[in-house]
Amino acid sequence: VAISLIRGKYVVVRADLDGQSRLLSDAAVAQQDGVILEVGPYSTLRDRYPEATAIGNGRQFLLPGLVNAHHHGRGVSSLQTGQPDGPLETWIHRGMGRRPIDTYLMARYTVMQYLRSGTTTVMFNQSAVSADRVSDDAQANLKAFQEVGVRVAFSAAYRNQCFLVYGDDDAFLASLPAELATELRTAIDQQIMPADDYLALCGSLERSYPASESASVRILLSPQNYQWCDEQTLQRIAEFARGHGLGVHTHLVETLYQRLYAEKLHGQTPAQRLHQIGFLGPEVSLAHGVWLTRDDIALLAAAGTSVCHNPSSNLRLHSGIAPVLAMLGQGVPVALGTDSTGINDDDDMFQEMGLALRLHRPPGLEEQTISAHQVLHMATLGGARATAFGDTIGALEPGRHADMVLVDWDRVSSPYLDPDADPIEALVSRARVRDVETVIADGVVVYEGGLFPGRDHDAVVREVQEQLSGPAPEAVRRRRQAYRELEPHLRRFYADWNLEATALYRYHSIH
Ligand SMILES: [Zn+2]
Repeated sequence: VAISLIRGKYVVVRADLDGQSRLLSDAAVAQQDGVILEVGPYSTLRDRYPEATAIGNGRQFLLPGLVNAHHHGRGVSSLQTGQPDGPLETWIHRGMGRRPIDTYLMARYTVMQYLRSGTTTVMFNQSAVSADRVSDDAQANLKAFQEVGVRVAFSAAYRNQCFLVYGDDDAFLASLPAELATELRTAIDQQIMPADDYLALCGSLERSYPASESASVRILLSPQNYQWCDEQTLQRIAEFARGHGLGVHTHLVETLYQRLYAEKLHGQTPAQRLHQIGFLGPEVSLAHGVWLTRDDIALLAAAGTSVCHNPSSNLRLHSGIAPVLAMLGQGVPVALGTDSTGINDDDDMFQEMGLALRLHRPPGLEEQTISAHQVLHMATLGGARATAFGDTIGALEPGRHADMVLVDWDRVSSPYLDPDADPIEALVSRARVRDVETVIADGVVVYEGGLFPGRDHDAVVREVQEQLSGPAPEAVRRRRQAYRELEPHLRRFYADWNLEATALYRYHSIH
């Protein structure tokens, strides 16, 4: 019987929103075959399980495996593959100039990147690619995640409108030079998939990966954003998900332009529209939510819909700063994710926590802030809820999966940490990817001291380098040129959309 004891100088049993996290000192977690048996003082558990293998030196910080609740699986980043940062509405089209990498190879690299930052569960939103590749890509991605042992809530993103701008694509195409319009038309046609086919694909993924207590995969549906899917299809997708007991993941009001699109069309915000068509519910999670109104937040809270906070991405893509204080204040479940655009261009969830901790500090003595406990909650239990793994992960409590991380506390606290300092605040403030020593998934050590037992990380890196060696292929250079031609037309399309009327920025006095 495979029992092990994972011990820590500090052990976070669970991180709660009210700052009353359960934190033990000189404690351990006993796990058997991937399930947590109990948590308590190390000496007590050592006596109770004398035969158990010991993991950890007793000086480390032990916490639940982190949940990256929104990303697109780009371990080799967008920037690295030829898509520099920019405002989302232009940046997204710059993506057509990315150097392609084999899906399975990219996924194997990405999974290892996650593990080394202590992430044991991810929400993987597979971006829309050509329709004929969606299914094969999904299989390749899921295979890679299962092999390495990262828990994955997987969704294939679906779009059926507004491919180029938040408006009528045909009218926009008609305003472009003929050659460019033809090239873009072809690219859109390759992406179009009938909604029936999309639902059939999700149904077939669900049959291949049925949800259960022990399963490491959850299949979700994902209309990619309000403006990228017509309302009738949004409704169909939501109904299908409910009928099959599946979760739904989407982006929402990542930028102000996305909100203005719905307001121009309906005089309502995207969240109000989603509420009206019966889309919202506890099985739904939304990435970003930067431009939610107070009323929107109340709708989400009432529906039990989660929001995944993506602070790095929102800064890098000029999206804004999400009203997370208001979300927490009104009782919206909040998770945390890197969106494959971490602030240091990696997927370091510790750094993402540090950023989330410090980003929401508006000037003024009376202002509320987000506490380190709340941030750690977002990256653990908040993520568990958003990824549909619910109460099977996210805390080190009996019956949950034994997913956890040992952090080098000597290093994090070096050369001194005052005994009055809150260890959780010190962890969230100071720990980085380099401080992760050991990662355990389902009771198995999957990362330790820079190595992945049973996997050759260097070989994967070499394979990535080989695939990307040499000059960019002709097709990539042509698409980069097409983007350069397109960009001024995108700017022209949005030129008279009035952001000033809505944007309030309290970090300086320039309006
Ligand atoms: Zn995203």
